[in-house]
Amino acid sequence: MSGTLDSTGIASREMFEKLLPSAQRRAKGPYVVMECYEEIPCNPCSTSCAFHAVKMEALNKCPGVDYDACTGCGSCVSRCPGLACFVINETVGDGKIDITIPYEMLPVPQKGDIVDALGRDGFVVGKAEIVRVLSGPKMDHTNVITMRVDASLLYDARSIRV
Ligand code: SF4
Ligand code: SF4
Repeated sequence: MSGTLDSTGIASREMFEKLLPSAQRRAKGPYVVMECYEEIPCNPCSTSCAFHAVKMEALNKCPGVDYDACTGCGSCVSRCPGLACFVINETVGDGKIDITIPYEMLPVPQKGDIVDALGRDGFVVGKAEIVRVLSGPKMDHTNVITMRVDASLLYDARSIRV
């Protein structure tokens, strides 16, 4: 799949929504979203997936996801050099969702921290609770952080400010 980013380099809501799996799959549990809109020769998302859920027609094509195979495990989140892989879990309840993001800034947040959720343009869009932190030498400098935010921030929340 390929798309055109606007002059700001920010993917539109429409582009994002085209990547989402079916409502049925979204209701089942965590799933990956690969916001990889440019065709570049790259495939760690595919090679890092133990479930063979990432489908690429060719090395320089955008990845597609087999959502019957994707477990939302998040392995690809830290492996993507473009920081383009996210895991979304819409089954949290109470009007909240979890968004798992790659995070290479310091300081690394701790579980339980309340931080600013940032939008695609870097501006604050709301508050986020940190519910999981995967960091350490094995992560190769890309920590994997899960933030809990209002479900209305599905498209908007893409990073955090600690
Ligand atoms: S979240 Fe896990 S199962 Fe899904 S594509 Fe990424 S590595 Fe594969
Ligand atoms: S690893 Fe990331 S940047 Fe590379 S093809 Fe996969 S999603 Fe795109």
